[in-house]
Amino acid sequence: MLAKAPRGTRDILPGEVEEWSTLETFFRNLCKNYNYREIRTPIFEHTELFSRSVGEDTDIVGKEMYTFLDKGKRSLTLRPEGTASTVRAFLEHKMYAQAQPTKLFYFGPMFRYDRPQAGRYRQFHQLGAEAFGSASPEIDAEIICLAMDFFQSAGLNQLSLEINSVGCPQCRPGYREEIRKILEKNRRDLCPDCQSRFETNPLRILDCKIEGCREVTLQVPEILDHLCSYCVQHFEDVINFLKLLEISYQVNPKLVRGLDYYTNTAFEIVDTGLGSQNSLGGGGRYDGLVETCGGSATPGVGFAIGLERVLLSLEQQSSQLEYTEESRIFVATLGPSASARGLQLVTELRRNGIAAEKDYQDRSLKAQMKQADRVGAAKVLILGEEELEKGKIVLRDMEKGDQREVELEEILQILKNDL
Ligand SMILES: [Zn+2]
Ligand SMILES: [Zn+2]
Repeated sequence: MLAKAPRGTRDILPGEVEEWSTLETFFRNLCKNYNYREIRTPIFEHTELFSRSVGEDTDIVGKEMYTFLDKGKRSLTLRPEGTASTVRAFLEHKMYAQAQPTKLFYFGPMFRYDRPQAGRYRQFHQLGAEAFGSASPEIDAEIICLAMDFFQSAGLNQLSLEINSVGCPQCRPGYREEIRKILEKNRRDLCPDCQSRFETNPLRILDCKIEGCREVTLQVPEILDHLCSYCVQHFEDVINFLKLLEISYQVNPKLVRGLDYYTNTAFEIVDTGLGSQNSLGGGGRYDGLVETCGGSATPGVGFAIGLERVLLSLEQQSSQLEYTEESRIFVATLGPSASARGLQLVTELRRNGIAAEKDYQDRSLKAQMKQADRVGAAKVLILGEEELEKGKIVLRDMEKGDQREVELEEILQILKNDL
């Protein structure tokens, strides 16, 4: 028990971390080019922030949140997603008073009490971007383009961008009633979740994955035929900008996403090579969210991508992220005074920007050479008591397999010249 991480969590070990930080770097660089700036929000927030913004009737708020009372009896929740916190920060720091749009990105752990399975964890990681203050469909296209560029840089192909419009507060209520009217007679064929969705948010019945529900929803007309003229125009514009940017897409009229706050654009990026857990990320427009969180009406659009899913996808298509291992110097020493001088030497190298390691266990020279191999040392410096007395050190090139004796005093300069 003590030596096991809680269910649904996992350690990201050395060897994996390099992949994580590589993906993070790809995203960071893209965001810089797109002029999105990083924000880091707290891991926990007031529970109300999520229940209000994500929506009381969603699975996230209803079933999946890690909510607790702190010692001051405040109800707090580990963030289940990143958008609500970003909106809260946008309001708290009056970013709306700056020139708009405000473009932000984030990266970090999120928490949902969900059934763990391949690529799905209770502590999982998302990177995301949000743009506030512009209702322009150009920004919808930009945010989609940023997400797609990220997948591109990670080397993921076999992706499909699915897009839909979920309408606005003008046209959605009518469509909701339409769904209720049509599904009324089939109510009892719906799964228990959808029976309650029938009351609270019938739109969500459309993306239920359960066979019985899917069959029943076949008779529901597409939302795209029920949009108001503003929403029709917005959707058309987004599609045209995607064409302009040469981003291929698939209109999926059943796509509604699990969160209540979306308006107009909703999109999802799925890996067609993966099984049922095939969504790598998604997002959409949320023009009512800032207002819901206590601000004045401010349009917004964003996305989030699940890092665990991305890594699962990479694994499935057996593609490796390319990252360069730092070359390293290993200092092998024999005898206590050489070891002490060796400690001084690795420190000097490290302070000069050269990655260096030594032995701390008084191992034999043979064992130290093995260790040098394990840490991936391109060069080994060998320092015995004899060399130390002469002021020399042996420089061995592990790839070429040759070695030469050089002045101990000059070794830093020699290595620097080499790099
Ligand atoms: Zn509308
Ligand atoms: Zn259902």
